[in-house]
Amino acid sequence: MTADSASPRDTVLVDALEPSDAPDTAAALASALALDSERAVDAVATLLRGKRAAVLTGAGLSTDSGIPDYRGEGAPTRTPMTFQTFVADERSRKRYWAGSHLGWRVFHRAEPNLGHRSLVQLESAGAIAGVITQNVDGLHTRAGSLHVVELHGSLDRVICLACGQAFGRDSIAARLETDNPVLRNPESIQIAPDGDADVGNIDDFVVPDCTVCGGMLKPNVVFFGELVPTETFLEASALISGSDALIVAGSSLAVNSGIRLVEQARRRKLPIIVINRGVTKGDGRALHKLEAGTSETLAALAARLLG
Ligand SMILES: [Zn+2]
Repeated sequence: MTADSASPRDTVLVDALEPSDAPDTAAALASALALDSERAVDAVATLLRGKRAAVLTGAGLSTDSGIPDYRGEGAPTRTPMTFQTFVADERSRKRYWAGSHLGWRVFHRAEPNLGHRSLVQLESAGAIAGVITQNVDGLHTRAGSLHVVELHGSLDRVICLACGQAFGRDSIAARLETDNPVLRNPESIQIAPDGDADVGNIDDFVVPDCTVCGGMLKPNVVFFGELVPTETFLEASALISGSDALIVAGSSLAVNSGIRLVEQARRRKLPIIVINRGVTKGDGRALHKLEAGTSETLAALAARLLG
């Protein structure tokens, strides 16, 4: 795939619009947990009792909210938008905004799931110190988590690359729809298998610019090839330093910042618990690896620690 046809990473979410029909009650999910997972949760609960853990979450936590995991097993291969391409190529930028707008609408409709809610309960009870997330969907905050570090930013905010002015995504979305009537009827838009949105002649597509200085706007998310802002990484780092354990939930830790935080926990000799379906880069550092869904496992853990 050439850089010109690169897809932004948040547009890959567009073609999985099916709302999750997964069971979403603790009772239904508890029965879904295999016996060996039950024993593993018992062991983890014993380990964590009286401690305060930091939690690092990834895309696997949001799949039960109907947001697909683009790195998960069976996900189609996509080429993520790079910062360099976004800034340098106007047509790519237009395609990005078209696809990103549709992706954002999916995020906007998604609701926090039992996994997010279980983390809120654990935080309220003092069992976790806060959540570091690689997700850009804002669902931890919407669920009610108080201490959330968004490593990769949030699709809910847009920033000007020239003057730094921040905008809410709602206002930018309204401008996009006003300037590009095709977006008002998303059902009519074809999504290509590579995640690109077919919005007609891309040259006619209008992307919003900064109302303060006329500069280029960009969703406030970390693109492929961009680094996590230092301030954000330090905040995540401080959360781990102040905790007694680290729980990784729903991340394969393919991203460098994630594995660096896990490595930091290992150096501090914190017990590390990994909850993820499939192999992760942190498995070798984990005291407990739970090969299970995050919603049911976190709910089971909360039930044991808070019950
Ligand atoms: Zn500006």
